[in-house]
Amino acid sequence: MPGFEIFGDEEKKQVADVLETGVLFRYGFEGARNGHFKALEFEKKLCQITGSKYSHLCSSGTAALCTALNACGIGAGDEVIVPPFTFVATFEAVINAGAIPVFGEIDETLCLNPDKLSDVITSKTRAVVPVHMCGSMARIDEIKNVCDKKGLVLLEDACQSIGATYQGKALGTFGLAGCFSFDSVKTVTCGEGGGIITDNKQVYEKADQYADHGHDHLGGPDRGADDHPIIGTNYRISELNAAVGLAQLNKLDQILDTQRKNKFAIKDAMADLPEVSFRYIPDAKGDSATFLSFFLPTENRAKQIAQNLAENGVGSPYWYDNNWHYYKKWHHLKEMKRSAKLSFELADNLPDYKNIVLEESDNIIKRTISMQIMLSWTKQDLENRIQAIIKSFKG
Ligand SMILES: *Cc1c(COP(=O)(O)O)cnc(C)c1O
Repeated sequence: MPGFEIFGDEEKKQVADVLETGVLFRYGFEGARNGHFKALEFEKKLCQITGSKYSHLCSSGTAALCTALNACGIGAGDEVIVPPFTFVATFEAVINAGAIPVFGEIDETLCLNPDKLSDVITSKTRAVVPVHMCGSMARIDEIKNVCDKKGLVLLEDACQSIGATYQGKALGTFGLAGCFSFDSVKTVTCGEGGGIITDNKQVYEKADQYADHGHDHLGGPDRGADDHPIIGTNYRISELNAAVGLAQLNKLDQILDTQRKNKFAIKDAMADLPEVSFRYIPDAKGDSATFLSFFLPTENRAKQIAQNLAENGVGSPYWYDNNWHYYKKWHHLKEMKRSAKLSFELADNLPDYKNIVLEESDNIIKRTISMQIMLSWTKQDLENRIQAIIKSFKG
């Protein structure tokens, strides 16, 4: 799964290009940069891969989400529906936008359940942010239908799903905008980095401006001559990070092939285990195969299997007990432990996070185990792993 497993001469060459010029800034310095625009090149490649019209690379996936929310006009007091199973960055970005995260239930895709969205849609709902968790897709066409019907912005958090598609269309391209993360443990890594994709020119321009203090980037070689149509911040990526990512993005097909081969070897070997059922994947062909997720019949059995797997050297995330990816342990959110104050309007209108209960999501996540699929496994590693997994089901 993590692209860092396959760092090689390609990444070194890209970074050397940048270091030789001394220009680490993505804008300007035309005379000195020897024609190297790594961030720009990355963006072009990301557009090609996803089939989007526009993309903007920024300093992290979190920065991408914050920028995309802002560029889509989501702000103070707006309610944004997010899943309870995701990395904390999703709701952090919503709160940073001055908006209110509202949790919908997930289904056996491990992503937001489109059938349950109407339970949490109110007159203040402005956007839905489904998260394509663990490399595979939500029922994104159905989520899109609900958004279209209700006039809501659809913004996909595809941070974990670069390269994944639904019916041949890249995840991240179904709504007004989509976001990716290229942090140090993601499928494609820049070290730190994130990308926004959109087909909407205005959203793209706002994103491009917001992530660079509002610069309109129309002033030519003199950056000081740019105008500032909106107030922004600094979520820029450096050329060094972009250079690493560019080499990685060029390896995406190879990464996906390896992940799929490794995942399906394990999945095949587990197919006859009577206790196991697999995560529902709406379009198996589009799975980027970063994880193999499966369900056990009960919570107790899932805990036992997770323990057996760890004892047999093939420890795998049991998300229900995890501090970072499931709402049960988001104490900081439940108590709204911010370092700054919220506006009165917001503070008065927050959902009762402390007592939030999502029964259907709990019932699924309690029984879920996910195995991370690595790129560097040898044939022997894979065989040993399969033996260890089979053994874990005997205890
Ligand atoms: C990694 C991740 C993010 C945040 O990305 P960073 O680049 O680490 O800031 C957001 N959402 C999800 C689902 C992620 O996995």
